[in-house]
Amino acid sequence: MKNSDILYLVIPCYNEEAVLHETARQLMKKMKAMIERNMISEESKIMFVNDGSKDKTWDIIQELHRLNPIYSGVKLSRNKGHQNALLAGLMTAREKADMVISLDADLQDDVNVIDKMVEKYYEGSDVVYGVRSARDTDTFFKKFTAEGFYKIMQAMGVEIVFNHADYRLMSKRALDGLSEFHEVNLFLRGIVPLIGYKSDIVTYERHERFAGESKYPLKKMLAFATDGITSFSIKPIRMITTCGFLIFSISILMLLYFIVIHMLGKTVQGWTSTVVSIWAIGGLQLLAIGVIGEYIGKIYLETKARPKYIIETVLDK
Ligand code: UDP
Ligand code: MG
Repeated sequence: MKNSDILYLVIPCYNEEAVLHETARQLMKKMKAMIERNMISEESKIMFVNDGSKDKTWDIIQELHRLNPIYSGVKLSRNKGHQNALLAGLMTAREKADMVISLDADLQDDVNVIDKMVEKYYEGSDVVYGVRSARDTDTFFKKFTAEGFYKIMQAMGVEIVFNHADYRLMSKRALDGLSEFHEVNLFLRGIVPLIGYKSDIVTYERHERFAGESKYPLKKMLAFATDGITSFSIKPIRMITTCGFLIFSISILMLLYFIVIHMLGKTVQGWTSTVVSIWAIGGLQLLAIGVIGEYIGKIYLETKARPKYIIETVLDK
């Protein structure tokens, strides 16, 4: 095969000192083999994005870059979260790369399918999604919540690739498309399918985290899922309206029922129904206000249009 486009691997890193050396080693091996087979250009790079890590992550990236310029680095001015760090990397890589593959620093994404992704790119795909075939290594809880998340997203009408995280290849053209999306609440998995162009899928088995801890504790996972749903769908608002309408109809029926019972002379033991309805309606209203607040919060954030990240340093020569 003789196709020599420039490939950039983009890896967001937050406190990843425990895995970085091993990740760098494995990716380097992969890149070398591909360069030798003339699959990708010698100018291809492994780009680590330091997302405001508090440990030695940036020191390690700098050292790797010094030893071998195939490693490049981007340093964000502070921690901005996985999605923003990834975007910063993608947008920096876009200046030089013909194609970019994003993956996690912890080696959970099988590096052996990188070749397949690149092959699909040469066959004409602008986006190649890495899709997990098995989740054996995840805990039951993670599996359960993740599955629920994808199902809810699909039910909400968001085009999302099932079991695809952020392991994907994007061509320069697709990245240019991505750069046209200006929303502050960034949810790449939902946006990428909106870019269009030809896409394909490769399946892989997700490994266990090589070392270190997950940077997605439950709280962050919930925030991520809420963001994903509310940035793409207004269905929750519609659901509230429907719900409100239903409850209103039911309460009218109940009212009629109570009037009839009253006229028949049967005393109504009203306490239970009163208390229950107060609680039910009160709860529902709170929920509704909460959901509406979520959207208003989004509007508030979007109108401010703050930068999603600020790059402090770029090591790429
Ligand atoms: N990450 C990041 N910024 C953050 C949190 C995570 O750049 O604020 C990176 C992290 O270093 C890793 C990737 O995002 O490369 C995915 O995180 P992690 O593996 O902890 O998530 P999980 O696989 O447990 O969902
Ligand atoms: Mg991980």
